[in-house]
Amino acid sequence: MKRIEKINEIRNILDLERKANHSIALVPTMGFLHEGHLSLIKEARQNNDIVVVSIFVNPTQFGPNEDLETYPRDINRDVNLCEQEGVDYIFNPSVEEMYGEDYATYVITESDITNKLCGASREGHFKGVMSVVTKLFNIIGPDKAYFGRKDYQQVAVIKKMVRDLNIPVEIIDCPIVRESDGLAMSSRNTYLTPKERKDALVLNRSLKEAKERILKGEKNKDVIREEILDKINEIPYSEIDYVEILDATTLENIETIDRDVVIALAVKIGKPRLIDNIVVEG
Ligand code: AMP
Repeated sequence: MKRIEKINEIRNILDLERKANHSIALVPTMGFLHEGHLSLIKEARQNNDIVVVSIFVNPTQFGPNEDLETYPRDINRDVNLCEQEGVDYIFNPSVEEMYGEDYATYVITESDITNKLCGASREGHFKGVMSVVTKLFNIIGPDKAYFGRKDYQQVAVIKKMVRDLNIPVEIIDCPIVRESDGLAMSSRNTYLTPKERKDALVLNRSLKEAKERILKGEKNKDVIREEILDKINEIPYSEIDYVEILDATTLENIETIDRDVVIALAVKIGKPRLIDNIVVEG
């Protein structure tokens, strides 16, 4: 396995891989890898000749009051984990390598898809995500790129961007990996105190209970939403950013639960803002 920091260097290497007819997979990450990331890497490893993992904490997707400075980082640990998973190349550029001093070009969408959920509360977040993912696609030129459904809206936004802009890459979305007690794995879980870690279980529990209620016949999305809000509000210090029930494919608002829906939430539990979601097939 090789760790590469320069755009030109990874390009030259991957040109040779392509000449040798090797298929290339990209797993974009911000590092501090956990089993969620590793599940994407394993899936990529099984289905491609060459696996590239990018590790880049992308400043343009963080808002001014977010945790860019304190975002957990441990590149040596990440390198070891990638090595164990049989990764071929880690692409780990510096901020300067990705964004020169005169950097000025971004990818944005006019679709409503970025105005809701995380896009509503994290201004400019998806502009940063779409731009960096496009840059990574242009640098790596992957045949397939792997994303987790933990960031449900992110996958939808990227799939739409790839379709709209005819980017020649196949987007593979992978299931959410959870701790044994149900908490969705996240690099930000390291911010949780033991008490917050226990209280955070309400997120997945309320989603699972909502799914059961819908499957038993409840069609009223406001009723389901209120039930989730009530459960989360039992944690007095939690700060709910959103709890939304949307069309699972388009992320459009719905009147009643009469199709496949995604229930998505973002809640601040202590320091971290945690996200989770569940799909209910209608
Ligand atoms: P991040 O490093 O948080 O930007 O995540 C990199 C990729 O890993 C994204 O596609 C995430 O959706 C995915 N990912 C993060 N956590 C999980 C998880 N618990 N289960 C599945 N995928 C995940």
